[in-house]
Amino acid sequence: MKLSNSKRIFSGFADKALKKGTISDSEALLALNAKGADIVDLFAEAVRVREVVSGSKIKLCSIINIKSGRCSEDCTFCAQSARYSTDAPVHSLVDHSEMAEMASKMKEWKSRLGIVSSGKGVLKGDSAEFQKILQSIRHLVKKGPVHASLGLLSDETARLLKDAGVEMYHHNIETAPSFFKKICRTHTFADRVHTVKVAKEAGMEVCCGGILGLGETLKQRVEMARAIHNLNVDAIPLNFLNPIPGTPLGNRKPMLPLEALKIVAMFRLVNPKKEVKVCGGRETVLGDLQGMLFFAGASGMMVGGYLTTRGRSVEADHRMVSDCGLTAVK
Ligand code: SF4
Repeated sequence: MKLSNSKRIFSGFADKALKKGTISDSEALLALNAKGADIVDLFAEAVRVREVVSGSKIKLCSIINIKSGRCSEDCTFCAQSARYSTDAPVHSLVDHSEMAEMASKMKEWKSRLGIVSSGKGVLKGDSAEFQKILQSIRHLVKKGPVHASLGLLSDETARLLKDAGVEMYHHNIETAPSFFKKICRTHTFADRVHTVKVAKEAGMEVCCGGILGLGETLKQRVEMARAIHNLNVDAIPLNFLNPIPGTPLGNRKPMLPLEALKIVAMFRLVNPKKEVKVCGGRETVLGDLQGMLFFAGASGMMVGGYLTTRGRSVEADHRMVSDCGLTAVK
């Protein structure tokens, strides 16, 4: 029995990504179509890039849902839209004490705090609710880095968040530009890109990614990775659809673990120098292959649960990171 000595199709991808700052769209598509032993070669290229860019450090982040549900928007995957009847919690802005309690866990969790609110966004800086959030942020930053995700922003609200001490603003483009209308009709892809730009102009770092498995094609997954590359953000959160009953995508089948891991590797090679982290859907979609996410090129993950669904214990996640010979960091 003789092994074919055909050239390994992903050979050189890591060098190209590091030297040129990305790989081409056709190479990215090749990555998503990898089969058999080629998948392992693909992961090897992606992990080489991860090791050069972030060594053995795995960045953790954790979120608190400070206001849940009742959102006017119609994002088809979202349990917090008022248009869909789901079991998601519905509550108005939580007290500062709840945010402070979550913040106090970040040291032990070796994680960074993200405060997340449902709703289209905050375009005016004078609302009582927004002023309360700014007040909380001013206190929370004394305990450690604070990230925020409050939807669409204006120049004014972005500047006020920066002045209050927000280190990183999270705002996803969610999917490929050509697929966006299929998942949201109440605001536009351009609205989301605008928010990423005003957050950067205000001097905040930006965390921008999206959700895979919404019905987009493989080509649209590459288009999404390219769109994020062109926005030159700092961190890229990858979520895998965890279908929520009651939402329009509630009956969709979650993707298979290897399909998700190939997406991680593709995003790593298209965006070599960024923090590529796996967030929502990690446990549901990756199942027993969770630890592989670091060997597919991811350099971060969300721990401690998600907006409307639970995650597994932070202890188990810390153990997974150390079992992979890696180190969890803030
Ligand atoms: S993703 Fe955000 S904007 Fe869209 S429905 Fe959910 S909370 Fe609203």
